[in-house]
Amino acid sequence: MNGAERLLLRNGTVITMDDELGDFDRADVLVSGGKIDAVAPDLGAVDARVIEARGMIVMPGMVDTHRHTWQAALRGIAADWTLGQYMTGLHLGLSALFTPEDTYAGNLLGAVEALDSGITTMLDWSHNVNTAAHSDAAVQGLFDAGIRAVFAHGGGADMYQVPSTVPHDEDVRRVRDRYFSSGAQLCTMAMALRGPQFATMDVTESDLRLARELGLPVTLHVGDGEWGRSRPVTRMRERGLLGPDITYVHCNTLADDELRDIADSGGSVSIAPDIEMQMGHGWPATGRLTGVGIRPSLSIDTCVSNSGHMFGTMQICLATQRALDNQEPGASDRPAVSLTSRDVLSFATVDGARACGLADRVGSLTPGKQADIVVLRTDNPSLSPVNNPVGQVVYAAHPGLVDTVVVAGRIVKTAGHLHGDVAERARNLAIASRDSLFERTRHTANLADAHTGGGWQPAPLVTSRL
Ligand SMILES: [Zn+2]
Repeated sequence: MNGAERLLLRNGTVITMDDELGDFDRADVLVSGGKIDAVAPDLGAVDARVIEARGMIVMPGMVDTHRHTWQAALRGIAADWTLGQYMTGLHLGLSALFTPEDTYAGNLLGAVEALDSGITTMLDWSHNVNTAAHSDAAVQGLFDAGIRAVFAHGGGADMYQVPSTVPHDEDVRRVRDRYFSSGAQLCTMAMALRGPQFATMDVTESDLRLARELGLPVTLHVGDGEWGRSRPVTRMRERGLLGPDITYVHCNTLADDELRDIADSGGSVSIAPDIEMQMGHGWPATGRLTGVGIRPSLSIDTCVSNSGHMFGTMQICLATQRALDNQEPGASDRPAVSLTSRDVLSFATVDGARACGLADRVGSLTPGKQADIVVLRTDNPSLSPVNNPVGQVVYAAHPGLVDTVVVAGRIVKTAGHLHGDVAERARNLAIASRDSLFERTRHTANLADAHTGGGWQPAPLVTSRL
C-alpha cells in the first residue's frame, strides 16, 4: 500500500470535526506518510500531489460501527420483511447455504460499497462464519477492498439457536493469530458476541472471558425489539460483566437504568436508526442515550433492506429524534433543538472512531491522525450554494456526491470513481453468488419458495416467545 505519497488537498471547505481546530471556509489539508500533517488556510507551495478541492467539502471519512457485510449481495430482498422474517429468511435461512466464496463476494461488495460512499472505517459484524474457510474468506474480502475495517468474529449461524448453550467458536484464536497479530494494521479485530438475548448467561460469561483473554474488544446486540425487555444489561451487570471494552448495539428497548449502567461502565453504543425503524426494534435511543451522557455511534446493520451509506442513516437519526422531541408538550416553545446536525455528524465520525477503539487514529482531520478523508462535490443542484456545510452534509448529501476518498493517505476514489477494477470485480462476484445461492434454495425444503423480485415473504420467527 502506498501510504507514503504526500498529498495536498487545496482550497476546500474543511470540516475537521476537531473541536480545537474548528472548521474552515477555505483551507488546505496536507497529508504525509499516510497521516494528516497540517490543516490551515494557504499552506503555500508544497512538494506534494495536489488535489484541487475548491468548491468541495473536505471532511473525515465516516465510521460504520456495525454491519453484517456478508449479506451485501442479497440487498433488497428484505425491504418488506419484519424482524421475525429476517431471522427465518436470512439469518437462520439463506445463511446456511453460504459457501466461503459467497462470504468473500458479500464482504468485498459491502466493503467497496462503503468506501464508495465515504465510509472509510467499517466494523464487519461477521456472524455467518460457519467454518475456518468462511472466516478466511470474510477477512480476505475486507483486505482486498482496501478499507479500514474491524473484523468482528461472530461465529456461525448455528450458534444462534436461541437460547444458545454453545460457547463461541474457538477458531477465533486462529483468526487472531493468523491475520491480526498487530494492532497497528489497517484492519484490526474484535469479537461479535451473542450476549444475553441469544445465549445463556453462562455462555455469555464464558464468551466474554474468552474475548478478554484474547485482548479483543466486544460488540453485542441488546435492546432490539421485545426480547430487549428481558433486562440483558442488568443481568450482565449482576455478573460483573460490563466494561469499557463493550459496544452495545441498538439499545432501543433497554430500560433507562440499563443505559446508565452502560454509561457508568464506560461502554459505547452503536445505533442503526434506519433498520431499527424498519424492523420494529423500537424508537432509536438517540436522545435517551445522550441524556445519560452517552454519545452513540451510527451503523448500517443489515443491508438487505436499507441502504449501505451513512448519509441516509444520519438523516433518519436526526429526523426521528426531532420527531420524538416535537411530540413533547410545549415543544413548539423550545428555544432550540436538542440534537444538532453537528451532533449527528460527530456520531458518524469521531464517536464511531471511539466505539471502534480507534479514536487516536481516525474520526477527525487532526494532525497526527491517519489520513482518512472524504471530499464531496458541491457544484451541483443538491449542495450549491453552500450556506451551512455541516447541516448540508447531514441533510442533503448522498453517495453520488462523493468525489474523492482517501484511506491512510492512499487515494481509493477520485473524480467519482473507485480506482482499479475492484468495484467491477465485486459486482460480478456478487451477481454470480446471488444467482448460485437462489439456485441452491430450490433444493432446500424450508427455502423452496425463496426468490428475488420482492415477493418472497418468509414465515416469521416469533421473537416475543423467546
Ligand atoms: Zn446487527
